[in-house]
Amino acid sequence: MNKIIYLDAAASAQKTRDVIEAEVQFLAHNYANAGRGICARAAAVDNMVMDSRRAVADMIGAAPHQVVFTSGTTDGMNRVAQMLRARFSPRMRVAVSALDHHSARMPFSVDADVVVMPLDKNYDYDLENVPMADVMVITAMSNVLGRAQNVAGLIRAARQKNPDVITVVDAAQYIAHGVVDVMAWDCDFMCFSGHKIGADTGIGVMYIKNPDDFYPDKFGGGMVAKIDGDAWRLEPASAKFEAGTLPLTQIAGLRSAISAWRRWNGGADLIHYMYDALAEMPRIKILTARDSVMLTFVVDGMHVLDFGALMGARGVCVRVGNMCATWIHEALGVPGSVRISVGPWNTMDDARAAVDIIRGILK
Ligand code: PLP
Repeated sequence: MNKIIYLDAAASAQKTRDVIEAEVQFLAHNYANAGRGICARAAAVDNMVMDSRRAVADMIGAAPHQVVFTSGTTDGMNRVAQMLRARFSPRMRVAVSALDHHSARMPFSVDADVVVMPLDKNYDYDLENVPMADVMVITAMSNVLGRAQNVAGLIRAARQKNPDVITVVDAAQYIAHGVVDVMAWDCDFMCFSGHKIGADTGIGVMYIKNPDDFYPDKFGGGMVAKIDGDAWRLEPASAKFEAGTLPLTQIAGLRSAISAWRRWNGGADLIHYMYDALAEMPRIKILTARDSVMLTFVVDGMHVLDFGALMGARGVCVRVGNMCATWIHEALGVPGSVRISVGPWNTMDDARAAVDIIRGILK
């Protein structure tokens, strides 16, 4: 079997040795629970969790007390939706868009009045036509089109319509390619998954601008400061949203993943090379812009699943199908597509080999 060429970073990133080592080290030599012990090892785990929380805070321009560990973007978006549903009676009016991943839009569509925000001709948010809403779900970067959205501009426009609008940003893809700055965006919530930036699965982040303004959606150990019969006083800030034992092993790897990912140049040279080569192939219709961080296309006369299977049989992993993004595919007029995305492990040799293999399949 030839070497596998993994061109599916946007689905999940490969892990560096540092991340794997950080997790192995924790499991083999430093393991204990967090927030529950007073021995030296438990204190070291508390410090490890705090260091990872600080690394996340530093990466997204937040304070550590605004960083809540979740199991991923889907978990975070569902939790925010749950907390907001409890706040609006009888139903919240939610603005969503065709850019949204199923994990961003579906949780907010439950028991809500949904209004779909228009996109402009480039499939970017149309800042001139922002609807009135209680809650706005914002996809900072579509997982199909890979273009950074003007999140700050959209939030400003939304606040002109409703100064109290609660803005929730899905940064699952953006985090891998752009500098997330929650202060500059001025969003109320932001969620992402660690596995998209080389951390393990099972760890994600939910940023909350004002933790004191929200009541938790989960209850249990670690989030309560004092119990008095059946009444309680919650822990302050992010701690009150972290009921139960955290995914400590994944948190141990997260900090290493963040520093490794920050050293990556973004892979634009690889995407440009493949874009230019595929643009010359008559049967390929590219759906992304040349400066997009990913390369998404359809193949004339071939089902995307067949194309993906042929690529897979030749050792190239790409993503095919609707990519949990049905609405943008509807807007593009195709049921599914093929997506190439790169990460720090990919080289120009990978890009050249992928192009040669695609040429071979389509000849
Ligand atoms: N939002 C976007 C834009 C995504 O690309 C993804 C994953 O592909 C998700 C949300 C869901 O992320 P996860 O499956 O890690 O919860």
